[in-house]
Amino acid sequence: MLRLTDIKLPLDHPEAALTDAILARLGIGAGDLVGYTVAKRSYDARKRGGIVLIYSVDVDTPREAELLRRAQAAVAGPSPAANKVAPTPDTSYKFVARAPASLPLRPLVIGMGPCGLFAGLVLAQMGFRPIILERGKAVRERTVDTFGLWRKKVLNPESNVQFGEGGAGTFSDGKLYSQISDKHHHGRKVLTEFVAAGAPEEILYVSKPHIGTFRLVGMVEEMRATIEALGGEIRFSSRVDDVLVETDAAGSRHVRGVTLANGDELRADHVVMALGHSARDTFAMLHARGVFVEAKPFSIGFRIEHPQSLIDQARFGPQAGHPLLGAADYKLVHHCRNGRSVYSFCMCPGGTVVAAASEPGRVVTNGMSQYSRNERNANAAIVCGITPEDYAEYGDGPLAGIALQRHWESLAFELGGGEYEAPGQLVGDFIGNVVSQAFGAVQPSYTPGVRLGSLDASLPRYAIDAIREALPAFDKQIKGFAMSDAVLTGVETRTSSPVRITRGVDGHSLNTRGLFPAGEGAGYAGGILSAGVDGIKTAEAVALSIMAGVSRA
Ligand code: FAD
Repeated sequence: MLRLTDIKLPLDHPEAALTDAILARLGIGAGDLVGYTVAKRSYDARKRGGIVLIYSVDVDTPREAELLRRAQAAVAGPSPAANKVAPTPDTSYKFVARAPASLPLRPLVIGMGPCGLFAGLVLAQMGFRPIILERGKAVRERTVDTFGLWRKKVLNPESNVQFGEGGAGTFSDGKLYSQISDKHHHGRKVLTEFVAAGAPEEILYVSKPHIGTFRLVGMVEEMRATIEALGGEIRFSSRVDDVLVETDAAGSRHVRGVTLANGDELRADHVVMALGHSARDTFAMLHARGVFVEAKPFSIGFRIEHPQSLIDQARFGPQAGHPLLGAADYKLVHHCRNGRSVYSFCMCPGGTVVAAASEPGRVVTNGMSQYSRNERNANAAIVCGITPEDYAEYGDGPLAGIALQRHWESLAFELGGGEYEAPGQLVGDFIGNVVSQAFGAVQPSYTPGVRLGSLDASLPRYAIDAIREALPAFDKQIKGFAMSDAVLTGVETRTSSPVRITRGVDGHSLNTRGLFPAGEGAGYAGGILSAGVDGIKTAEAVALSIMAGVSRA
């Protein structure tokens, strides 16, 4: 097959236009075209009213070798089209190992978010029969608990938006794109497995795929069934409270198993730690056990809500509402006078702001949507980057960032009235530093509810100043972004992990062999796709380590 890239067509082109463009690019007649598939479809919306679709296609033609030679010869010549014809890359996934018939000890995977799910799946596909230990409940029961907070203001600290089957990404927008470099096409493996589990096929080729919450729930169940059918095992309500570490005669530390909250011990020489960014108790346990953990930068801020129609108009102009474009998103960044950067994060078109706390007496915001993305409001986090120097005042160890998060999340709980409502302020009032009294054109979507007032003291001074400066600057990029009635809801403190559980190039913890820190909580992913990719890479590292042990024995 030949991969043709950068084929540009108008948004409303007839289907035949793509075929015509392929024939023109290759300089062949219809008789030489067996067929084609769309490998990628994106759009260029820089010219509002003149939005262009951009395709990459894989073409089946009997003249492949000759056309490729011609294209390659032209690379040296003047034709700019030449490098846009190439062999279709092989993106199929190749397993790095096959488990021996008898395994000394089964690998453990702690956490069943996207990282643990893919680590578990790929280990199971290679025959290593992993045991996945998840502190939360199976996804359907977990959904009931999550809605318990959203609708009845009752938080279950072990079963919520952060904890339970599917991990933090389950009640989300299900955005599936990432900027990680992925030369081994692991991202393709993640998307392919998602499609096999029930995701729409379009996620394989649209440039910004998303799934939405309802579908994610069913897909997670489907993937669980696959892992079990391959000999893997999944235990819910199984929080890991301790790790067993032995030090050998040479002074090298090795993990030998884990202890669960109910006191059960499981022996293992290979333990994947795919904890997510909210496992604060587990981070503390690992640090206390001497596992190398260091503080890392993250970001804090608020969620902002606008009418989705405002964003659609600003981005797509007269073509707003076109079914191929869907609800518009945005990505904004502003470098502030105080040296901070403020940026938009986890933008959820046509979605809702959700309560994302996992600890009693604390309020945290995040965002989600359904596949249709047809709720009234657009929401995104507007956050300010912070570094370990900023949290030195909250403690001097690697866990100081957690102390900072807890401080501001507890304050948000108080400012919200002490029943999991979140503090909020209208954007116009926030910029003018005026206490908000009543909602205007934008009704916030956050349940249990938003308590209006002032957010002026709800985050550190530098973050408030930076966000206050950034909002009018964003208005220059998206007209209406700083509209008075847009709503800010706080606080958004869990943008990424406040710690890194550092690992070496072989995937093992820097100072504890057999412990494989992975995913977002370990500081190696940010988002569903990159967490899934990191899960695959970690499964490969575990498999290679097990096989090295088998061949030494
Ligand atoms: P997690 O998904 O956090 O999974 C970790 C798992 O480990 C949890 O299930 C937890 O219960 C379990 N665990 C923790 N400690 C223990 C223990 N001691 N014992 C046993 N189990 C334990 N990303 C996107 O790419 N697109 C989006 O649209 C998107 N929207 C989001 C919306 C919301 C509301 C939230 C909260 C997050 C969203 N994210 C989104 C971020 C994304 O969910 C995370 O980046 C991703 O889930 C990280 O995957 P992970 O597997 O590393 O960790």
